[in-house]
Amino acid sequence: MQPGETPLNPGDEGPPDAPGVGEDICSACRGTGIVEGQRCSVCNGTGKVLQGIGGG
Ligand SMILES: [Zn+2]
Repeated sequence: MQPGETPLNPGDEGPPDAPGVGEDICSACRGTGIVEGQRCSVCNGTGKVLQGIGGG
């Protein structure tokens, strides 16, 4: 892993610099990073996920 590189969370569909991938609110925790009092396992508590955009 290179310095400054962001490790992907389970909910991420790709690296932030990949074409067609954009940052979006985590649908599992709705951006709070918390699900039922626990850290969201989808976004790893960030409240954001990287999703493929542009349809397809
Ligand atoms: Zn989440």
